[in-house]
Amino acid sequence: MKMAGQKLIASVTGQRSRTTWGLNLAMELARTGAWILGLALGPTLMLVSAFVIASCRESVAQGDADLEAPGMAPFATPASPQPTLFQNVRIFDGRSATLSAPSNVLVRGNTIARISVSPITVEANVRIVAANGRVLMPGLIDAHWHAFMAATPQMLLMTADPSYLHLLAARQAAATLMRGFTTIRDLGGPVFGLKRAIDEGVIAGPRIYPSGAFISQTSGHGDFRFAFELPRVTGGPLSHSEVEGIAAIADSPDEVRLRAREQLRQGASQIKLMAGGGVASPYNPIESTQYTEPEIRAAVQAADNWGTYVTVHAYTPRAIQQAVAAGVKCIEHGQLIDEPTAKLLADNGIWWSLQPFMDDENASPLVNPVSQKKAQEVFAGTENAYRLAKKYKIKTAFGTDILFDARVAGRQGAILARMVRWYTPAEALKMATADNGELMALSGFINPYPGKLGVVEEGALADLLLVDGNPLENIKLVEDPDKNFLVIMKDGTVYKDTVPK
Ligand SMILES: [Zn+2]
Repeated sequence: MKMAGQKLIASVTGQRSRTTWGLNLAMELARTGAWILGLALGPTLMLVSAFVIASCRESVAQGDADLEAPGMAPFATPASPQPTLFQNVRIFDGRSATLSAPSNVLVRGNTIARISVSPITVEANVRIVAANGRVLMPGLIDAHWHAFMAATPQMLLMTADPSYLHLLAARQAAATLMRGFTTIRDLGGPVFGLKRAIDEGVIAGPRIYPSGAFISQTSGHGDFRFAFELPRVTGGPLSHSEVEGIAAIADSPDEVRLRAREQLRQGASQIKLMAGGGVASPYNPIESTQYTEPEIRAAVQAADNWGTYVTVHAYTPRAIQQAVAAGVKCIEHGQLIDEPTAKLLADNGIWWSLQPFMDDENASPLVNPVSQKKAQEVFAGTENAYRLAKKYKIKTAFGTDILFDARVAGRQGAILARMVRWYTPAEALKMATADNGELMALSGFINPYPGKLGVVEEGALADLLLVDGNPLENIKLVEDPDKNFLVIMKDGTVYKDTVPK
């Protein structure tokens, strides 16, 4: 992990508004408990319950982060971060292929308050970043990330103490933010706790759009069970990866609906389904079509009722076509697509979350030979996939889908830079900022971060990078964030500032 030498400024915001409802719920439960206990057990326990309610009130006043670390000094949780003025920046706004004229950008609270070519006068408490003509751009967004699994070896994930694995994921989340990725869409894994801790300012990390457990059929891409865990009887014990919240095995529309609703209940912002064969999973041919249309539609309906959407893992034309017919709004991967299926995506306005998978130093490690062979088929399809995405002007998202390797995770930016094989630097950066921001907004009224992401404009959420150089001319700057990203801001808070003073 690439944390060494980086300056992590830990003035983090509480974002209390988002957690208050949780506390309200706790108080509600305590109240209900008090009432039930009062009926059943009499006045002494009523007093105990009243104490529980009082404690909950107390925690509302403190924020709940410090409750998790008694004895520690309270976390710095100001109502809003210190305002920041970026002086003399040239802006890549997330959309335009050219930089703005020298400008000034004022951030107040968690949004961009003002952008002006004339000087902006501010009060004394405002942090001034004298940018000296450097480039200000939106924070990067990775549309296909696995915060729990990106940097941890597969064998460790299947065998180690979960609490240890969550600590590793927390460290990787901080590293992700320090690479300039201020938002990730998590496409499978237990990250609800991680997201909460980041949002509360307990630890540093990107915004997370969580899917929770990915939903898979038996023998599907999400079925990582050992042989001795079969057969499963309906209602029988869950497998290890299900208990940990990595996968949810579901067969039949009813089970898929149940599992989808369980993810939504925990705070999933979209639902991820395995709709076809995969590379890293040993028990399914890559050519396989997974689920049936009614099963996928059950998840689509559950998501749609919650204002959001289903995205599916699928490589082949048949798997993609079935998923589109069932109403999914986004396809992950799709490297083995054909021309008619690409046209189908374009005609239906379906998002294509495509990764530049290639057989090089950025490939995730694969342990078994079957997976290695399948990976070769996918690598071979990447060129054709991007060609078709461009030809049919399909809404294309950028994502890395790095798994099981801390070294490759450290190359998240390098994988973005590789996109110039098919796109101009401006097009590639637009995809990883404004376009991906549009995809994040697809989670509708349950969007955990309502507001504009991936753009530099007045009113947008203040996720910003100050770059030492012009990434529109030299996209390789994003390969070395330690050196080239001088300021990293998320939600109006500065996490790194190495501008020479
Ligand atoms: Zn993935």
